[in-house]
Amino acid sequence: MTITRTLARSAIIGVALLPLLVPEARAQQTRPDPKATEQWEPVPPVVTPGIGAAPPADAIVLFDGKDLSQWQGVDGKPSRWKVEDGAFTAVGGAGDIRTTRGFGDIQLHIEWRTPAKVEGNGQDRGNSGVYLQGRYEVQVLDSYENPTYSNGQAASIYKQYVPLVNASRKPGEWQSYDIVFRAPRFDDDGTLRAPGYVTVLHNGVLVQDHVELKGSTVYTGLPKYEPHGIREPLLLQYHGNPVSYRNIWIREL
Ligand code: MG
Repeated sequence: MTITRTLARSAIIGVALLPLLVPEARAQQTRPDPKATEQWEPVPPVVTPGIGAAPPADAIVLFDGKDLSQWQGVDGKPSRWKVEDGAFTAVGGAGDIRTTRGFGDIQLHIEWRTPAKVEGNGQDRGNSGVYLQGRYEVQVLDSYENPTYSNGQAASIYKQYVPLVNASRKPGEWQSYDIVFRAPRFDDDGTLRAPGYVTVLHNGVLVQDHVELKGSTVYTGLPKYEPHGIREPLLLQYHGNPVSYRNIWIREL
């Protein structure tokens, strides 16, 4: 008797809820199919990431700790930077060096170290630079408790963009830049079709967020674009300070 009554009550409740459930069921029928927004092509290529400091499998290694065969002086002669202990250092009069091959849009990983023994102040302390396409400088400087103009400190786009934060390590410690660079494009007549863009992480911290390059880096005056090829060498600046580099690799985008 009790069971019958319970069933009867359930039936009544069911009937009572039916008008509420039916519109819901109807809505489900008219809702778009989630599969319609699934994208299956293209399938991204598989890239085995590096373990620890190792480069990913598809990277072009520009310095593996042994030799500077992929670099040369800007005069085309062999590099005079000193290779030692898995790194290379700007020794006296070494001059700027550039890669033997050119690059366009890239992801770049590069590690650098300013001297442990602090000498000089401001721009004269641990100065070097990563020049994308030989023209657009991401500043390398000992910016640990070393005041200078903000658009010239480490991780600035020199004289163009102040870094979002100062993520510098102490002098003598290895630091890293991870850079995403979109090269500028020029028309055949040399007019700028699309500016370059740079994103920089300094020691893993975002410091430049897709900033639009204003032109080639200049020390005086305003930056201005000069037309150049789609692929140009990467350059490291010799600024008279014994700055070291290691573990450099590039992925072409
Ligand atoms: Mg510099």
